[in-house]
Amino acid sequence: MTEKTPVLLVEDEPHIAQGLIFNLEEEGYQVTHVDNGEDALAYLSRSGFALLILDLMLPGVDGLEVCKQLRQQGNNIPILMLTARSADQDRINGLITGADDYLTKPFNLREFLLRVAGLLRRSPWVERQNKAKSYRFGTNCIDLETHQAKTDRGSIQLTELEVKMLQLFFDHEGKVLSRGEILKQVWDMSPRTETRTLDNFVVRLRKYFENNPAKPQFFRTVRGRGYRFVRNPDG
Ligand code: CA
Repeated sequence: MTEKTPVLLVEDEPHIAQGLIFNLEEEGYQVTHVDNGEDALAYLSRSGFALLILDLMLPGVDGLEVCKQLRQQGNNIPILMLTARSADQDRINGLITGADDYLTKPFNLREFLLRVAGLLRRSPWVERQNKAKSYRFGTNCIDLETHQAKTDRGSIQLTELEVKMLQLFFDHEGKVLSRGEILKQVWDMSPRTETRTLDNFVVRLRKYFENNPAKPQFFRTVRGRGYRFVRNPDG
């Protein structure tokens, strides 16, 4: 990962904020700090953060309210809640409103950083960063962001669904995918739906990417079971 992981810290006590910023930056995170809930919500609606570190007790819109609003907006950023109170009710409230983890002040810095690292492992932002932006197989190269494919036959602009289907094959390289599974993942259809669309898609992918579409090496039919993508047919 070349880009620094962006973290938003919401903490109204300056000395605590300072200490956390220092330690997070030491760990290589890029920290944005605000000291109230309104600013936190404004920042979160504008830019992508990998993690939110949120103090519970804030002037105005408090941590619970920020949490609640984010989840209502469908924002699934991991949230580490910081609380000065240790009452169980806070812990329960925090979890109900959608915080992923919490720490009670004063906390150990090492534990804090461990919790941060743990939550980042399931951060959608980090997932997106880790996902390969291009994929090669044979003499084909597919840019998964621009949807451009370079093949022996020239350059092809792929459709959204074609890329979605390719991504599914790439993610399950070497494994058999049933037609039902593909229909569900790519078209969001019930696995029982009868459709030729899927088979037509595979025919098209073979025309794009196979040396001999009639004898596919990459996008193989597994009789009675589904399809299997093989990245290195000779390997
Ligand atoms: Ca506070």
